[in-house]
Amino acid sequence: MPLILAVPVAIVAGMSRCAKRGVLIKGGGVLEKLAQAQMLFFDKTGTLTGGRARLVDIESGPTLAATELLRLAASLDQVSQHVIAQAIVSAARERGLTLSLPSNVEEQPGAGLTGVVDDRHVAVGSYSFVSLLASSADWSQQFLRRTGYDGATSVFVAIDGAVAGALLLVDEIRLETPRALRLLRKAGVKRIVMLTGDRRDVAETIGAMLGVDQVLADQRPEDKLAAIKAAHSSGSTIMVGDGVNDAPALAAADVGVAMGERGAAASSEAAGMVLLVDRLDRLAEALRIARRSRAIAIQSVIAGMGLSVVAMGFAAVGYLPPLAGAILQEAIDVAVILNALRALHVHGPREGRPALAPAAFDALKTEHDKLRPILERVRATADQLTIIPAKEVAAELADLNELLQKHLIPHEDQDDAKVYPAVEQLIGGDDPMAAMSRGHREIRHLSRLLQRMSSDLRQEGPDSKMLAEILRVLHGLDAILRLHFAQEDEIYHSLAEAA
Ligand code: ADP
Ligand code: MG
Repeated sequence: MPLILAVPVAIVAGMSRCAKRGVLIKGGGVLEKLAQAQMLFFDKTGTLTGGRARLVDIESGPTLAATELLRLAASLDQVSQHVIAQAIVSAARERGLTLSLPSNVEEQPGAGLTGVVDDRHVAVGSYSFVSLLASSADWSQQFLRRTGYDGATSVFVAIDGAVAGALLLVDEIRLETPRALRLLRKAGVKRIVMLTGDRRDVAETIGAMLGVDQVLADQRPEDKLAAIKAAHSSGSTIMVGDGVNDAPALAAADVGVAMGERGAAASSEAAGMVLLVDRLDRLAEALRIARRSRAIAIQSVIAGMGLSVVAMGFAAVGYLPPLAGAILQEAIDVAVILNALRALHVHGPREGRPALAPAAFDALKTEHDKLRPILERVRATADQLTIIPAKEVAAELADLNELLQKHLIPHEDQDDAKVYPAVEQLIGGDDPMAAMSRGHREIRHLSRLLQRMSSDLRQEGPDSKMLAEILRVLHGLDAILRLHFAQEDEIYHSLAEAA
């Protein structure tokens, strides 16, 4: 019966919709499983985060210069596909270091690697990997604690059997990650789990920022695999990953999703789905399309069968002559297949709506990047004020005030006058940026307070009460500015999602 065609028609239509949105689905079975998925597993590094880690600090013991430590680590990491390894290599290149070719390299996926560089035995990787191979250093624990607070990743380096130093890397959460997770929940995902080879405290900081349901840290590739297998009993599972070491987990999940672009070949082969566009929100879109397509398929079949049964009933009692019955059945089949084709028109949340031009998004992003040092300066000033002599406080504060008044406040004014009205046009609705605008007023209020406090300061500097008051304003300003910038970045990025 052509009725049965309704299912493949709707499914193939859904796959074609996904392909148009840059999501490659390798077969109808994958789409059907995607539609039923309840549990989502995410790898952290390179998937929830952008995988473009920046090297922010080098801790090196007394025996070795920081640049030499970086050079040796990067030389070894040249042969690794890991995103963190690639970040270390580019950091070394940016600093103009000449890398050597390593030999005898052995990599343990998701942990690190060992090899010989310039006749020295070098090990690079996570703390647990390196500390098993080398005698540890007394600063390690303190270093680890510090990285745990702000969710930065640490990579340890051992040379000739002793831990020689560590690299601190910050891998920012993707701009679209929070929105993507929200959309996925809206599309029906019940449980979101973060799987990572990184340390517990780091993983939990990131997990808390994103609001995932569970964080599984210190996971070796085989642990990730076991976690997915264990989840099978409680419903359909999706695993999203990017690295070579995610391949077993991707293969074990009902639907394995590889983050394309950089997506190591190994992980896209193990995956049933590839996100060709390096945006996590496309996964939410694909899930939505899959659900709708499946619902349309089921609806078509049920409606078609119902109509056929009714027609057969009429035919049986003689109200429908055979010829008319055959024509009616044809009509039902055609109607059902046309209905199934509706799956071609399932739209993403912002598809077809006006989008922020890529150039405009880049301009807004550059503007923020230029102001970022001022944000850093607010926090740095707060730290400074508690250390420097009271007499110097006034000058320090005056410097900061000048920066704020000259660069930051004009930027916020510009946002209110020009950027927000344009953004509101794109979002639509009545005053959608009202809450964001409120942030501008708070920023202006706090910087005015700071200005007044600064001009009230006498030569000898603030007394302890006044200092406490100044610090309160500085910390408040720091927190609000960070949040405000992050919110704006997220809004702009979601609008830049072009059709
Ligand atoms: P995730 O599961 O979050 O993607 P991984 O399991 O891939 O993380 O890696 C865990 C940790 O192992 C990293 O944070 C890093 O410290 C270390 N590591 C793994 N491979 C390498 C490598 N090639 N070079 C340096 N460090 C590595
Ligand atoms: Mg990874």
